Amino acid sequence: MSDGSSGAEGSDASDPTAPDSSDTSDPTAPEAPAATDTGPLADIDLAAAAAIPGTWLELSVAADHEAVEAVSEILSRAAPGGTSVEPAFELVEEGLVARVDLARPAMVRAHLPLLDPIAVRDAVGRVERELGHLQAFGLRPIGDLAASLVYEADWANAWKAHFPVLRIGRRIVIRPTWRRHRRQPDDVVLALDPGMAFGTGLHPTTRLCLAALESLADRGLLGGGASDDGGTPDGGPARVLDVGSGSGILSIAAALLGAREVLAVDVDPIAVEATAANARRNRLARVIRAREGSAPSGEGPFDVVLANLIASLLITLADGLVEDLRPGGTLLASGVLENREAAVVEAFEVRGLVVVERWTEGDWVALEVRRPA
Ligand code: SAH
Repeated sequence: MSDGSSGAEGSDASDPTAPDSSDTSDPTAPEAPAATDTGPLADIDLAAAAAIPGTWLELSVAADHEAVEAVSEILSRAAPGGTSVEPAFELVEEGLVARVDLARPAMVRAHLPLLDPIAVRDAVGRVERELGHLQAFGLRPIGDLAASLVYEADWANAWKAHFPVLRIGRRIVIRPTWRRHRRQPDDVVLALDPGMAFGTGLHPTTRLCLAALESLADRGLLGGGASDDGGTPDGGPARVLDVGSGSGILSIAAALLGAREVLAVDVDPIAVEATAANARRNRLARVIRAREGSAPSGEGPFDVVLANLIASLLITLADGLVEDLRPGGTLLASGVLENREAAVVEAFEVRGLVVVERWTEGDWVALEVRRPA
């Protein structure tokens, strides 16, 4: 993580092949020389860094829970590869396990390819201004914009440091495969290698779904309990469909919490592969089947349908999701920003479904929706 990369900054500046920063004193250059920079780029020689292939500029801002989405949106305008949000953790279980701490600010990061130093400098300036406007709107305070250099060569393993063993809800533990965890009696431990696919447990929408799944399990809706409302017809283990499975995190949680059979579909072949590999890691290859696809899956009906997508997709796919759900079954619809909730609710209500429960974290909402029997 940033420890490793920032350590490399100073030494690489002395790279003899790197042009000296005094290059920017070119009289034709309209911009002020780098040395006069204040703010996030003050200590960074962009021209020198750009001369080293595979160098990226990492921008980071600490943002309060409520400001995360807005800050993320601003950073993403400068970073085509998108942003990542690392929530603050509190350590529990003698410091061995983390739990997301929503009371402390999260770290929003974006990476800009460092090819054209002038363009990067402009982009950083824009980000700074837009963050300034955001503050002026009276949102909760956000931290200063910080910048550091990251080298691709260090990156392959560096990202792993961002993933602790994570406890979610009461029983669910996400264990990155390269970490160890001492299991507590009730723990439901998911071993996960997120790789390139979405779904690490760090994103609020994934956490909401996991909390909701735990609640379904507690009410016997995934099987193994009485379930006259929303569960399986006979109270036996549920058949579950996971639409947009990403890393497979929800499929694995559903299987560990009692589901008998899980079909995981995703339009992204990388996600399908990640889901299959993670299912094997958890010895669930016989329970979870992953394939390319979407809703309707053509293999319904399912007792429970999980859909952690985004509002517009939930609305577009509503017919298919309902088709996949048996009467009396439960749909978890997540990935909904609060200002889109009404539209999503309407999409399901016009199809005869009923919202029975709602989970929120920051701006995000997950809905438990029932198809009447
Ligand atoms: N279920 C995981 C990942 C959610 S991210 C979690 O909860 O963390 C959303 C996933 O939906 C991505 O992997 C994306 O590839 C997939 N996706 C996007 N559009 C889709 C569609 N139309 N049908 C099915 N999956 C889709």
